[in-house]
Amino acid sequence: MSFLALSDPEIHAALTRELEREETTLELIASENFTSQSVMEMAGGVMTNKYAEGYPGKRYYGGCDYVDEAENLARERLKLLFGAGYANVQPHSGSQANMAVFMTFLEPGDTVLGLDLAHGGHLTHGSSVNFSGQLYQFISYHVSKDSGRVDFGEVQDLAQKHRPKLIVCGGSAYPRFIEFAQFREIADSVNAYLLADIAHPSGLVAAGLHPSPMSYCDVVTSTTHKTLRGPRGGIIMMGKDMENSWGKTAPKSGRIKMISELIDSMVMPGIQGGPLMHIIGAKAVAFGEALQPEFTLYAQTIIDNAKTMAEEFLALGYDLISGGTDTHLLLLDLTSINIDGKTAEQVLGKAGITVNKNMIPFDQRSPFITSGIRLGTPAVTTRGMGKDEMRMIVSWIDTALKKNDDETALKRVKKDVHTLCSSFPVYDH
Ligand SMILES: *Cc1c(COP(=O)(O)O)cnc(C)c1O
Repeated sequence: MSFLALSDPEIHAALTRELEREETTLELIASENFTSQSVMEMAGGVMTNKYAEGYPGKRYYGGCDYVDEAENLARERLKLLFGAGYANVQPHSGSQANMAVFMTFLEPGDTVLGLDLAHGGHLTHGSSVNFSGQLYQFISYHVSKDSGRVDFGEVQDLAQKHRPKLIVCGGSAYPRFIEFAQFREIADSVNAYLLADIAHPSGLVAAGLHPSPMSYCDVVTSTTHKTLRGPRGGIIMMGKDMENSWGKTAPKSGRIKMISELIDSMVMPGIQGGPLMHIIGAKAVAFGEALQPEFTLYAQTIIDNAKTMAEEFLALGYDLISGGTDTHLLLLDLTSINIDGKTAEQVLGKAGITVNKNMIPFDQRSPFITSGIRLGTPAVTTRGMGKDEMRMIVSWIDTALKKNDDETALKRVKKDVHTLCSSFPVYDH
């Protein structure tokens, strides 16, 4: 029985329709996933009522005994999951996590290197419409045209020329493993700090199927809702003994000497007030799930599914940035089939397949049109789909893109999508 259906039928109707949409369409947006019902129970529970500014054992409010237990569980599980020495589970989102890290290591105006947005980076890696690009002097590095992989010759040259205080590696549309060791070498050569933003592949890192940044990077940020399959949120971590091993002291002078203490204070009170304790509890649930052996199998299937999709697209003559994938995502260059990213997104939407248009490296079109689409397998893998389903999905995408003005063909694909979805329910009712 739904309380909401009685008290507020209007918003309940939107909720019901969203559930219906999630159940009946194919979710291929690489940054999305479906959390477990346990995660949702925690996220929808009574901890949403609690103010708990501060950290466990050091709160500004009374009555924090049980939220302290939840946050301690979240922190300890997260450290175990990534082999981290330090963890902060309070950032409300991945962007907040990055902001707190920038405030820890940088002063406004400082120089930073980050991957260009059109080459797979993220808004918070220096985009001019984001605080990062407005407060700091971001210099973009790129992928090379032939390989679609980071051009380390360029990164080295830019580092020598601009002497950044911080280098950011990782991105939102980079289909290959992030090359932590190569970034470390360049960061060391100019005495820069190195931030790994593993928002996208963190679930694969946790499962040991993507290299770990922990021993290479001074600090690591992630979201919790992408491949990690938790509630919407952010985290910050540092490797074991990372504070001591590089021989660096906290970047800002004053009372605080440890970088970890400085990060804590930049999250709260620096940029946030009260933590979302229901979400922190739900993060603990998700980290607990990710520590189970089944999660490794899940992460392996995500990658197998993405590789299967890549093979199918290549066999059909599509162009993939970097020629394939190591991870959960693929970036398709649609130039050769004469359809732009925006149209592709709309057409696939009509066929019940949800994707996002995406800039490709050296894109000739604007960010509102684009020449590519990004596809990811985390959500369909959570539903239990495997290689056979991936092959079907690719053939449907191919049909929809090539018959993009044939409404009957699109309707037929939509019907097939619907039938497949009903065999792989997201939630048991
Ligand atoms: C998704 C993402 C973020 C930000 O996450 P939000 O929770 O949406 O703020 C940060 N960095 C990268 C690389 C991302 O892909």
